[in-house]
Amino acid sequence: MSRFLIVLLPLFALILSGCGGNSRSTADSDTLKAVKQRGEVRIGVKEDTKPFGFRLGGERAGFDIDIAIAIAQQLGIAQVRFVTVTSANRIDMLKSGDVDMVLASMTITRQRDREVDFSIPYFQDGQGLLVQKDSDIGSYLDLAGRMVGAVKGSTSGSNIAQVAPDASVIEFGDYQRLERALRAGTVDAITTDTVILLGMAQSSKGALRLAGQSFTVEPYGVAIVENQSNWRDAINEAIQVLWESGQYQMIYDTWFGAHSVYGEHVNFAVTTYPR
Ligand code: GLU
Repeated sequence: MSRFLIVLLPLFALILSGCGGNSRSTADSDTLKAVKQRGEVRIGVKEDTKPFGFRLGGERAGFDIDIAIAIAQQLGIAQVRFVTVTSANRIDMLKSGDVDMVLASMTITRQRDREVDFSIPYFQDGQGLLVQKDSDIGSYLDLAGRMVGAVKGSTSGSNIAQVAPDASVIEFGDYQRLERALRAGTVDAITTDTVILLGMAQSSKGALRLAGQSFTVEPYGVAIVENQSNWRDAINEAIQVLWESGQYQMIYDTWFGAHSVYGEHVNFAVTTYPR
């Protein structure tokens, strides 16, 4: 906990508030210039998705929150305004101009890339399954005829339709509702990225367990509006500098280090390009 605080406390000073702004899109101008002129970047983050974006004692916390603040610092932007997004509305929040970028456990997919642009990957996970401890489900191969919960707007539901077409997918609005549905037995299994499930398994104190290995590849990217080349280049440069300077590793260790429940599962390196 102390390492966590050391990393986060100076960064909290940057955070303006937790509620969203509403100014118009800068999609038809230069977002990088606009953000620098404003002196503030509006970043869409989750508050229901531990350990990426959630609330800890009322404050925003998570890997995505720390990476977002570090990117803003790297870009020389004085203020960060966090805006809460969900899996279902994060693309619309970008398109409407409510946020300048989104860091929200968001997988880079080719389908999403038709609507928004993405940075280089800054993390990678894979999709898994979480079940009650005495469930007979051992992996996605056992899902035929079963009810599987997923969060609306995530990649998870459609991936299940691919790997287990005889399962029924039920979608929930957020990750708390999803977890409650599994505990209540409304669904036989829930599915999302494994790191998110590991956090739920840990807080269940043995009542919930993972079933099988990850069965998809989920590279996370910073999402921005389409056709903002300067903005995307600046974010990509910032991610690479964070990696080279070791700041990325500090944040990574805070959340996913060997001491954490995720330690054995995660193993990611940012790809840096030659200067
Ligand atoms: N990474 C997956 C996605 O982008 C699941 C996590 C989430 O819902 O944000 O859909």
